[in-house]
Amino acid sequence: MHVNTAKNRKPWMAFMSVAVGMVFVLVVAGCASQVLDRPAIPQESPIVSKETPAVTSSATMQPQAESSAAEKALQLPAAEAIPEPSTKAAAEPAASKTAATSKQRRLVMLDPGHQRYGNNALESVGPDTRETKPKVSSGTVGVRTKKPEYVLNLEVSLLIKDELVRRGIEVAMTRESHEVDISNKQRADMANEAGAALAVRIHADGDSSPKTKGFSVLYPSASSAAVKPIAAGSHEAAGFILEHLKTATGTAGRGLSARSDLSGFNWSKVPVVLVELGFMTNPEEDELMSEAEYQKKLAQGIADGIEQFLKSR
Ligand SMILES: [Zn+2]
Repeated sequence: MHVNTAKNRKPWMAFMSVAVGMVFVLVVAGCASQVLDRPAIPQESPIVSKETPAVTSSATMQPQAESSAAEKALQLPAAEAIPEPSTKAAAEPAASKTAATSKQRRLVMLDPGHQRYGNNALESVGPDTRETKPKVSSGTVGVRTKKPEYVLNLEVSLLIKDELVRRGIEVAMTRESHEVDISNKQRADMANEAGAALAVRIHADGDSSPKTKGFSVLYPSASSAAVKPIAAGSHEAAGFILEHLKTATGTAGRGLSARSDLSGFNWSKVPVVLVELGFMTNPEEDELMSEAEYQKKLAQGIADGIEQFLKSR
C-alpha cells in the first residue's frame, strides 16, 4: 500500500508541477507586459514644464515697448492688459479695512502708480462727467536707467510705508506687486472703502524736453463738483507734502498743481494727492531717483508731510 500510494502520487505531482509552471509563466508574462506599458505614462510631464519659461520671458519684455510713449504719464494709453481679475488686489484693502475700523482717521492709503501692463479699456473720468479714459497706463520709463515708472513708484512707496509704520501710522497699499490690474477709479475706491484719512498716489513724470525736472504735488481741483467735499483737505495735504519735500531734498521743486482730469482724484471720497517724484525723462534726475540716498529723502519728506496733515486733523 505504501508503494502503491507512492506510485499513485507520481502522476499527481507531475500534473501539479506542470500546472504550477504554467501559472508561473502566465504571471511573469503579465508582469512583463505591465512593465513595458509603464513608461508611456510619465512622458507627458516635460511638455507641461516647457510652457512655463515661455510665459515668463514674454512678460519681462513688455515694458520696453512703452518707453517712448509717456510724456504725460497719467494720460497716455498703454498696451492692452492681459485680462486678469484683481482678486489679489481686492483682497489687500479688505484685510486692512478690518484693521482700519478702530482708528480710521489715521489710515493712509499709498497708491504706487501704474502696473506692469496698462489697461486700455475705458472708464469714466468721474461721477459728474461723460468723459472716459483708459483704466490705467503703464507710465513712463527712465531715459538713462531704463527703469519703468511702475517699478520706481513701488520702490519709493515701500520706503514711505516703512517711514509711516515706524511712526505708528497705519498704512494700506493698493498694490505691492507689479502683476495687478487695478484701474485708477478702483484705486480711489480702495481708499474710500478703507476709510483712509488720506490717499497718496506716487508717480514719476515725463516730458518731451529732457531739461524739465523737479518734483510736484498734484491735488484735485475744486472746480470739479464731485471733489468739493475733499478739495480743501487735499490741498492742505499737498501743501504740507510739498514743503517737506523741499526741506528733505534741499530743492524747490515745481510746486502745486490743481487737476480736474484725473480719474483717481474725481472718484475719491477721501482727501487725495499725487506726488510726481521727478522727471524720468531728465537723465540726471532719472539716475538720482534710483539712488538709495535720494529715495530715502523723498520718502522722508513725503512721510513728514503726511504726518503733519494727520496731526492737523
Ligand atoms: Zn505716472
